[in-house]
This record gives sequence, structure tokens and C-alpha cells, in this order.
Amino acid sequence: MTIKVDVAIIGAGHAGLNAVKEVRRVTDRWVLINGGPLGTTCARIGCMPSKVAIHLADTYQARQRLGRYGVEGGEHLQIDHQAALEHVRDLRDTFVDLVLANTTDEMDEDHLIDGYAEFLDAGRLKVGERIIEPKATIIATGAHSVVPPEWEGADGVLTVDTLFDQERLPESVAVIGLGPIGLEIGQALHRLGIQVTGLDHGERVARIADPTVNRAAIDIFQREFPLLFGHEPEISRRDGGFLVRSGEREVRVEKLFFATGRHANLAPLHLERLGVPLGAQGVPLFDPTTLKLLKLPIYLAGDATGGIANLQRAAEQGRIAGFNAVHRRKRRYRSRAPMAIIFSEPNIAVTGRHWHELDQKRTAVAQQRFGPVGRALIMGQNRGLMRVYADRRSGRLLGAAMVGPRCEHLAHLLCWAIEIGMTVDKALDMPFYHPVIEEALQDTLIELRGALRGSPARYSWRRLAPRLVGT
Ligand SMILES: Cc1cc2nc3c(=O)[nH]c(=O)nc-3n(C[C@H](O)[C@H](O)[C@H](O)COP(=O)(O)OP(=O)(O)OC[C@H]3O[C@@H](n4cnc5c(N)ncnc54)[C@H](O)[C@@H]3O)c2cc1C
Repeated sequence: MTIKVDVAIIGAGHAGLNAVKEVRRVTDRWVLINGGPLGTTCARIGCMPSKVAIHLADTYQARQRLGRYGVEGGEHLQIDHQAALEHVRDLRDTFVDLVLANTTDEMDEDHLIDGYAEFLDAGRLKVGERIIEPKATIIATGAHSVVPPEWEGADGVLTVDTLFDQERLPESVAVIGLGPIGLEIGQALHRLGIQVTGLDHGERVARIADPTVNRAAIDIFQREFPLLFGHEPEISRRDGGFLVRSGEREVRVEKLFFATGRHANLAPLHLERLGVPLGAQGVPLFDPTTLKLLKLPIYLAGDATGGIANLQRAAEQGRIAGFNAVHRRKRRYRSRAPMAIIFSEPNIAVTGRHWHELDQKRTAVAQQRFGPVGRALIMGQNRGLMRVYADRRSGRLLGAAMVGPRCEHLAHLLCWAIEIGMTVDKALDMPFYHPVIEEALQDTLIELRGALRGSPARYSWRRLAPRLVGT
């Protein structure tokens, strides 16, 4: 059976679904092909269920502070792991239902095709017995967790794809890989009462490039649960579980949780049949602005592009690929000031230029510890530090890296300021309230202004003291 369409979209994640929205404005001759469960990575295993688990774990962890507030008995509180997992799944299902209700539920079988697609050549796709001949194709196939071949599918090996479907949580787990997912999930599991050991072959946590912030983050998280860096973990089976070695250290655990990265889902598409050059992770050469492959009416969007996974970016790329697939005049993807947030507690956030991208001679740097910040003290979360970078010549904000309370919000403020090219002076001209965590940013900016002018800042009296109107 051969189906001729204007556009075939492969993958019903945020990228693919947003592409459909644009395509159907222009033509009804489209198909959305999806292999595996519907509902998107974000809602099923990614952003949303992971944040539910983190929120739940942080709430349980808060019992350790209750004694300080005069609330007794916190140490006797118990968590029912099965009920906790059930809660994660309940909310996950709600998120999935919301996605389905607004998207694929109302698509008929002429438009929504269940199955995995592969290219026969640049103009033909095969899905099961069906051949599809699209004028344009959008590849929005997402990414998958990378597990070393010897451990793939093995008993006792978990990834985010399987974690939330477990009936029970293990007693102990080794988290292999301390990037964003490894740190978020590792800390959540630890806070739920699992013995967690985190291991990474590198020396960085959550990919933080700024060495001072990286050190501060490692110090904070290492105080909470063991993190072992600098050695390739050696893993073997032992007594029904696993023995994991990192240099001289070793740990026995019941399960492994692999967070060693995610790779674009491209191999099963047989892109080699397109006759185009393929780069890292099998990603074909494409124009990063129009998202189009060179010389072919084929577009890439979302995690399938092989970059750092980011939901908002996947959705926007989907919209642009969808628009470009049905219009002669192309829209262009404009990359904005980057921002990454890790929802650990304390948060980690980076925005703008990374440390290694800065011209050190031209860059002024200021930092502020959250220790004495009034609002952080009130919350009992006064740990961490933020560092903000500015250009010495123009005074413009360039970037920031931080580990601290509510950095998800500070990162947004800074990212927006960087995006519009704001100077440090202009940022300091903005209104601030009291007592808020944003005062940590205000103090860092005051210091940064001092660094730009070559004089030390005078601000420390303000941190703890209640602000006086007009000061
Ligand atoms: C644990 C975790 C936490 C995350 N947290 C965040 C966060 O806090 N913030 C953030 O911005 N991002 C986060 N992300 C990343 C974010 O979820 C992704 O960037 C986003 O969901 C990618 O969307 P997508 O449309 O590219 O791919 P997906 O949603 O993965 O959709 C791809 C679809 O294509 C299908 N498919 C694959 N191959 C084929 C084929 N050959 N034929 C047909 N169909 C195919 C797949 O089954 C899938 O349904 C997280 C990811 C994970 C895993």
C-alpha cells in the first residue's frame, strides 16, 4: 500500500506535534508516524515525572528541618515507596492524558500511523507494510538512553525509561553518570531513603563548566551522598547485585541506574540510504537555522538533532520545521541566550556564555555566596554560590553559573537580561523587592559593577540587615 502525502512527520514528541500544528494550517495531506507509546518523552519519562519524583523526595527530606522549627517527631515519619511511585505514575498519566487530549486523540488513522519508519530513499518511507511517499519529511524521533552494550536490557539495570514503572524501589543503587539526569534522579532516590552512590568518569557534576561553581556544587552534594569522580566505573555482577569500582573505592549495590547520556534515535531510520554525510550520533548535515538537510526536502527537529535536550527548543524547532516543510519562504531558527536548569536541591543553573567560552582578559567576574542571604536563611537553604560574568568594555552581562536556592528563577532573570544585551548598570537600575532571593543577584551585580570599575564593592552590610526604605 502506497500513500502519497505532502508531509510525513516521524515522531509524536513535542517537536513532531508542533510540526503537525504548522503543517495542517496549509495542507490536510500529512501523516504523523510514531513508533512506541504516544504521549511524548517529556510527559512519559522526562521533564514531568522526574520533577514529580524530585518534589516528592524534597518534601520528605524537609522532615529533617522540622526539629529546628520546634516541630517534633519528624524523624519518625516513614515513606511508603510503593505509594510514592504510584503518585509519580498518577501524575505522569495525567500529563500524558493532557498531551493526548490536545493532540493525537483527535487524529484519524489516515493521519496517525502507528509504527517505526525507515527511509527506503530520500522520497520514500516504509512503515510496516506501508510505503509513504512524502514531498517533505520531518525527522523528530527524539533520543534514547545510552547504556553500554554489555548491560543493555540486563536484569537490575535501570534508566529513566524504566525507573518510574518499577513496582518497588531498590535498597541501594549506583548512579552511573552525574550529568543533569544522574544528579537529579540520584538525589531524589537518596532523599527517598535509597542508598545511592553516584559515579562519573569525569570531574564535573551536571556539566558545570565554571570550576568554582563546580567545586561548590560537588562539596554540597557530596555532603549529602557519596559521589565518586575521576575513574571509569568498573562493574561486575556480585551476589545477585553489582560490585562497582571507582579507582580504589568499591560499592555493592542492588541495582544500576545508567545516566550516561542520550543519543538521537536515528539508526533505525537508515539515513545512510539518503546519500548524505552523517556526523556524530549519525546526525546528517543540516542547516541549523532552517533545520533542512542540504539539498533534500528533509528537516530535523528536537532531540533528533543531537544537541543538548531541551523541551522548549524541541517545540520551537518543530514549529519551524513544520512551517518550512510547507512554505517556500523559510523561517529561521534563532538560537537565544542558552539556559540550563538542574532541579536538584539546591538548583544548579547556567545561562549565557559558559566559562570556557569567555575571553578571560575581557571578562569581569563577581560572585556571591548564598550563606548570608536573608531569604535563603529564612528558607533554611543558604548553601551555594552564584558567579556572574560581564564584558569589561561594554559592561554587558555575558553569562552566569550558580548552585543555590531557587536558581531556576535567577537564571531566567539573567538569561532575559543577557538576551536583550543588558549592561550591569542597567540591571542594577531594575526594581528589586525585599527579602527575596533576587537580592543575591543584586549584590552580585553590585560587586560586578565594582569589578568593572576596578574598585571593590561595598555591599556586605545589606545582606542580613532589613533594608531601609531609600537606602
Ligand atoms: C529524565 C529527563 C528529564 C528531562 N528534563 C528536562 C527538563 O527539565 N527541561 C527540559 O527542557 N528538557 C528536559 N528533558 C528533555 C526533554 O524531555 C526533551 O528534549 C524533549 O522531550 C524532546 O522532544 P522530542 O519531540 O525531540 O522527542 P520525543 O518526545 O522523544 O519524541 C520522539 C518520538 O519519536 C518516536 N520515534 C523514534 N524513532 C522512531 C521511528 N523510527 N519511527 C517512528 N517513530 C519514532 C519515539 O517513540 C517518540 O514517541 C528531559 C529528558 C529526560 C529524559
